[in-house]
Amino acid sequence: MLHILPQFDLQPYNTLAVPCVAAYCAEINSLEDLLAALHWNKTRQLPLLVLGGGSNIVLNGDFPGLVLHIRLRGMEVVAETDEHIWLQIAAGENWQRVVQYCLDFHYWGLENLSMIPGTAGAAPIQNIGAYGVELDTVFAELRAVEISSGVTVTFDRDACRFGYRDSIFKNRLRDRYIIVSITLRLYQQPCVNLSYPALRAALAGLSEPTPQQVSDAVCAIRSAKLPDPGAVPNAGSFFKNPLVDSATFRRLQADYPNIVGFETGAGQVKLAAGWLIEAAGWRGVEAEGVAVHGRQALVITNPGHRSGSTVLQLAAKIGAAVKQQFDIDLEREPRVYP
Ligand code: FAD
Ligand code: NAP
Repeated sequence: MLHILPQFDLQPYNTLAVPCVAAYCAEINSLEDLLAALHWNKTRQLPLLVLGGGSNIVLNGDFPGLVLHIRLRGMEVVAETDEHIWLQIAAGENWQRVVQYCLDFHYWGLENLSMIPGTAGAAPIQNIGAYGVELDTVFAELRAVEISSGVTVTFDRDACRFGYRDSIFKNRLRDRYIIVSITLRLYQQPCVNLSYPALRAALAGLSEPTPQQVSDAVCAIRSAKLPDPGAVPNAGSFFKNPLVDSATFRRLQADYPNIVGFETGAGQVKLAAGWLIEAAGWRGVEAEGVAVHGRQALVITNPGHRSGSTVLQLAAKIGAAVKQQFDIDLEREPRVYP
């Protein structure tokens, strides 16, 4: 039975620990709950916030609408061949629990995506990626409920229009669908991906690392470099790595020979936003209870549990400094609400 709670405190439900009260919050434990909540809002037409683990959002003031807290649970093998396993995962499953489950059952392919906070349902929204692997490499399809009609629709990999930290759900279909499950096509045989230099270096002593060793190495690198949101509130990388054309990269290289950039094909270079922020002098800077992380300048932390606007003000200053020094626009990664 659906409960809609008024004046709901969202501070424990966002990893930046920003204070925020939502006008209403509904815990979604089943498809029936979801349809009932959408029905409840049909006459009210309040703004909606679909909330997973709250690890990629900035709450900028109280939320004047209905939060749908996605708690759908369950994982099921839905098909199998000699080569692949198709695993269907409910949207509210914790992502790291999914990774661990796959490691335990020898369903391979998620090792490099170990220790990313949040839920399975949010993973396709920005096509989560880390250490040389993005979700779309193992993605089969997802099921989502259209908010306006309540109808459940299936999107295959092509329909999701995945890109670098991007999908159709951040663009043309933004705020139109609620993902209720995803299906991954995983491997029966290990197929480790060591394309990422930091990962290769960590495993250099092993001739044939196992997927479990890859996962362990990813977890070790992440723990050494990234702040644990449970201890130091943060939302991971605050900015996307900007893409520039090769000519722009060469111009920057002439002035900054150490600038970090990676060819992505089609004449484009991906710049390391963390390098730009550090070079602009912001690594480790702290002001008004918010800070730029000392070990990775791409991460903004909120040790003082300050407001979303304080976090965004620091981000704006960083963006302005990078723009002034390099003439590069930084794009924010977490989504801002309301
Ligand atoms: P939320 O923050 O709850 O939501 C994010 C967005 O998705 C919101 O717009 C929300 O409305 C929408 N959404 C959530 N669930 C659904 C749903 N079921 N249906 C429709 N829309 C939905 N990201 C990476 O890609 N790679 C990393 O390596 C990485 N590392 C991180 C490390 C740290 C320490 C932190 C704090 C974050 C990191 N992130 C990383 C960002 C974040 O963990 C991911 O983007 C994650 O997928 C967000 O999941 P969530 O459930 O917390 O989403
Ligand atoms: P890092 O190793 O310090 O590298 C800095 C940046 O360089 C990364 O953003 C990465 O881009 C890029 N990079 C490094 N080697 C590359 C290569 N060989 N080819 C292409 N690009 C390369 O990064 P980090 O901060 O410690 O993060 C490690 C990984 O975890 C990265 O993949 C990062 O995306 C992911 N991560 C993401 C978040 C988030 O919130 N989105 C938070 C923490 C970590 P990519 O980002 O495109 O990989």
